[in-house]
Amino acid sequence: MSIINKALKANQTFAKKYDRKLGAHPAPKIVVVTCMDPRLSDLPGILGLPIADIDVIRTGGPAVTEDVLGELVVSTRVLGSKEIMLLNHTGCGFTTFTDDELNAKLSASTGDASPAPMHFFSYKDTEQNTREQIKNVRSHPWIAKEVPVRGFVFDMETGLIREVQQVAQDAAA
Ligand SMILES: [Zn+2]
Repeated sequence: MSIINKALKANQTFAKKYDRKLGAHPAPKIVVVTCMDPRLSDLPGILGLPIADIDVIRTGGPAVTEDVLGELVVSTRVLGSKEIMLLNHTGCGFTTFTDDELNAKLSASTGDASPAPMHFFSYKDTEQNTREQIKNVRSHPWIAKEVPVRGFVFDMETGLIREVQQVAQDAAA
């Protein structure tokens, strides 16, 4: 059986004990931007917050793209999230290649270079990536100044998250 078909079958069981109150409307208190990496899927566990309190935006890296910025605006301006958390992690798959390398590899292996250059948002330095994210989000005119924007790195070895401080020149800019 395919994984999707197996999941559809499991959903029948899930629906029997589903909390129907969740069907009313979303009421997130915090919005978390994190990587697509499956090891970051248990955000309620990692952060000790109820599922219903967390708006989750996931991209590879994570990359703070124009789409992500739009979602952060909706989460804070429309849905009511009060804080923004940017959650990076150690051992990210997006540090294992460069965009140039992956574009070249896929163009060669598929024999079709027409999608290149695809923007995969690969990066090398997790701390630097986090600082750039904070800067991108903080500088967006539609993200309210009173909404905290904080960046973190989840350590895959220990399960602990640590905060990434903005560098001095960014704070002064
Ligand atoms: Zn990752």
